[in-house]
Amino acid sequence: MHDLKNARLAWLEDGSPFSTQFKDIYFSSQGALQESQHVFIAANRLAQRWAAQADSARPFSVVELGFGAGLNFLLCWQLLEQLNRQGLRLHYLAFEKHPLTRADLNRALANWPELSPLSSQLLAVYVDHTSGLHRYQLTDNLILDLYLGDAITGLNEILGSAPGSVDCWFMDGFSPTRNPDLWDPPLVARMWQYSRPGATASSYSVAGQVRRNLQSAGFLIEKLPGFGNKREMLLASRPDSAGLPMDSRAEPPASTLRARSPRPTINRATVIGAGLAGCSTAYSLARKGWQVTLIDEAAQIATGASGNPQAVLQPRLAASRDFQSRFYLHALLYAHRQFTTLQQQQELNWHPCGVLRLPQQGRKGLEKLLKQPGEYYSERVLSRVSQQQASKLVGLPVNGEALWIPHGGWLEPGRLCQAYLTAIPETHLTLVTGKRVTGLESTGSGWRVTGSQGVLSESNVVVIANSYQARNLAQTATLPLDPVAGQISRLTATPQSGRLKSVVVAEKYICPATDGMHSLGASYAPQPVNLTSSAVADQENLRGVNAALAQLPLSGICGARVSVRCSASDYFPIAGAVPDLDECIRVFGPLSRDASARIDAEPTCLPGLFVNVAHGSYGLTSCPLTAELIASQANGESPPLPAALVESLSPARFILRDLKRQRDPDRLNRDQRTP
Ligand code: SAM
Repeated sequence: MHDLKNARLAWLEDGSPFSTQFKDIYFSSQGALQESQHVFIAANRLAQRWAAQADSARPFSVVELGFGAGLNFLLCWQLLEQLNRQGLRLHYLAFEKHPLTRADLNRALANWPELSPLSSQLLAVYVDHTSGLHRYQLTDNLILDLYLGDAITGLNEILGSAPGSVDCWFMDGFSPTRNPDLWDPPLVARMWQYSRPGATASSYSVAGQVRRNLQSAGFLIEKLPGFGNKREMLLASRPDSAGLPMDSRAEPPASTLRARSPRPTINRATVIGAGLAGCSTAYSLARKGWQVTLIDEAAQIATGASGNPQAVLQPRLAASRDFQSRFYLHALLYAHRQFTTLQQQQELNWHPCGVLRLPQQGRKGLEKLLKQPGEYYSERVLSRVSQQQASKLVGLPVNGEALWIPHGGWLEPGRLCQAYLTAIPETHLTLVTGKRVTGLESTGSGWRVTGSQGVLSESNVVVIANSYQARNLAQTATLPLDPVAGQISRLTATPQSGRLKSVVVAEKYICPATDGMHSLGASYAPQPVNLTSSAVADQENLRGVNAALAQLPLSGICGARVSVRCSASDYFPIAGAVPDLDECIRVFGPLSRDASARIDAEPTCLPGLFVNVAHGSYGLTSCPLTAELIASQANGESPPLPAALVESLSPARFILRDLKRQRDPDRLNRDQRTP
């Protein structure tokens, strides 16, 4: 995270960047845009192939080795816009070890004013820090996944579980002599493994070593006329199932492209639960073209924990680079982008005001972070601020030094849920309220969802997003989910407290005033017995922020709300395909005899069934990304997270853990079966 190094550049007379790390140019001096067009867009025959793209929700997948200034990406986006073809989706995955800073990207892209309508949109969301995968949903039919880090590491992390999924490769590293990693046999072997039959790869380089590497991996090689004064360029292809290279197949001429618009296949999903997890999942699925039925037992959406007046966007901080902290870090950045984009379309009342995090007594991790935040996070995500800086940032005197999270903020979660649903075209959303789902039955090609009065829906995919009540459905009954009650308090703002302009989190959090009131929270009561609010919890909330902010009023509580959140036994969200318990026990059973046994298999899942629950008190942060993860899995796309993080979120983790600890992962089912 902290170790990512931005590109070090010099600027040439013609305005183009030069890498002082690799001692090479980014673009040809004879017309960068034209060269990219020739070598990558035209040579791979993207216009023709996109026109002929089969009638399916599956996006066309381009992978770029070396994102640089994003010129190739912008040209693909431009072509997508020009074709304007319904049902065509592009998934562009790019790897970049040394990202340009945003300022440098701005300067480089200024070379092509003709691309500015698109480059300005890229610049608006571009993240130039924090290693790992960043997903940008730029339009309904365009995803850019930008992996910041080494390409070969990233390829394995992202595509490891998706062999044979890439349609086209742009090999655009610096020259093979200066940047051998991006052309070497190990990387080329991966390219072959991740290529779909019929995939192509192109490059400006025809170096003998590159050709030999591609050939020995299995690619067929052709030399095409190069651009400008370069005589040749390279096109490689993985033969299709008929053993033919892509080029030899008949495709329509580009001039007929607009006329052919195949009707896209309709995929149907049912999402159970219309809180943040369910509404965000419905939104992500609908953006991928799915028709969604959203069911909730309450009379309206967002009645549970998502009905609080203010929720905080903040990462769960840790002095660690483990799965959990990596997940929350990326979830924060993703949610921040998503809310900012949604706010441009609808009044979301999203306040990207930043969050100030104070250390807490006894929380060693926070103390460690305060000493060295740069050890674990980019300073653009988390930085230490002095007492004086902290007070200035939040607008009120703060009691000590603290950590500053500029991407944090707050919003009204019910409004966000509504905004998700409003953004879905009417034709793609059926909202069913006041109906409790009692069972799920496999139909062979999907699932039948039933309630007490019969069938509520039938669909290819079902996503269980009804918080701890997922325990009531047979397929997710063994998940270790617990309800946890939490009370938030409302505090009447005074002229003094009204100056608070950022969220402050100490023992408890306080949000800037809205409609003359602050929200404070939240109390924590596992195993809740009653859900009425208490004055004791109000006082607890007040005390929990008072220690951090000296000038807060000590009284003035004017309301409270108790809701129930859902927590997993390991306090981490559960998001992914629902495992087939019996099959997993059969395959992974040896783990109960030897916890370190190597079993080369993926947990078997119930086809088309997913779960998205256990977001605890960080749901505003985690839901947008887990929703996108599940929608990607349902749609057969590469996920927005590396494989290891996908695994760490998967509900199958509990089965494997139980087996390793010699516990019966099926105990709950057996208990239920025993009369
Ligand atoms: N395709 C880019 C564009 O359209 O603007 C230009 C790419 S530039 C010629 C090569 C890029 O490869 C540089 O940005 C460089 O930092 C990146 N790169 C070099 N080695 C890499 C590696 N091992 N993994 C990922 N990216 C790498």
